[in-house]
Amino acid sequence: MKIIRKISEMQQYAETLRQHGKTIGFVPTMGFLHEGHLSLMRLARPRCDTLVVSIFVNPTQFGPNEDLDKYPRDFRRDEELCRQEKVDVIFYPTAEEMYPQPYRTFVNVEKLTETMCGASRPGHFRGVATVVAKLFNIVKPHLAVFGQKDYQQAQVIRQMVHDLNFDVEILTGPIVREPDGLAMSSRNKYLSAAQRKDALVLRQSLQLAQTIIRQGERNPAVLRERMEELIESVPTSRIDYIAIVDPETLEDVAAIGERTLIALSVFIGQTRLIDNMVVELTPTSSSVIT
Ligand code: AMP
Repeated sequence: MKIIRKISEMQQYAETLRQHGKTIGFVPTMGFLHEGHLSLMRLARPRCDTLVVSIFVNPTQFGPNEDLDKYPRDFRRDEELCRQEKVDVIFYPTAEEMYPQPYRTFVNVEKLTETMCGASRPGHFRGVATVVAKLFNIVKPHLAVFGQKDYQQAQVIRQMVHDLNFDVEILTGPIVREPDGLAMSSRNKYLSAAQRKDALVLRQSLQLAQTIIRQGERNPAVLRERMEELIESVPTSRIDYIAIVDPETLEDVAAIGERTLIALSVFIGQTRLIDNMVVELTPTSSSVIT
């Protein structure tokens, strides 16, 4: 496994692979890897010749009062996990390498970025779209894999790829959860033991919404109220948003239809957690959450 820190070296390596007819699969991450990240590598691994994982805590997607400085990092452990997943290359640049001063070009995906996490974290998706565009130009992947845990992010990337004609196939992988249902996240590390239990309310509120829908409720306002009631029963929680939206456009729905994305962001203490579920009226085996 190669570890590449320089953009020019990564570009040259990718170019050589392409000239030899090799396909490049790519999983961008911010490191501190967990099973969610590894699941994306396992999705990509059989679909490409060379698998590249990037580890880069991207400063431009963090707001001024967010957790950039304390975001967890453990490169040695990440390296070992990547080795186990048969990753071929870790691209591991510094912030100075990625954003040499003066840096003046950003990618702004409109509309899809105005709601949900985009509304709570102004500038976040501008940073995400910019770094992913840069990484695509550096790693030159044929295929890139993103997690449905960050549902809105995946939609934003798909839109960017479409609009800017990136010649990259985008795949998404399902949310990987802890045995008790908490969606895996590098930020779960911030939770105390008590908060870790409180955090289960995110997933429980999604399950509640699914149950109520399956019992016939079609009014998003009622769903929202029931979810709020459950979440607010946990004293350490503070709701950032609950979105009940079309899974493609991310626009609010007036009534629950065949497929609805329910997504939420909740602070547990100081830690902001997100989770989501696509609820289908006609359940397929893969969409039933037990
Ligand atoms: P991050 O390191 O948080 O930027 O995440 C890197 C990639 O892993 C993104 O595409 C995330 O959506 C994905 N990811 C993070 N957590 C999970 C999870 N629990 N299940 C599946 N994918 C995930």
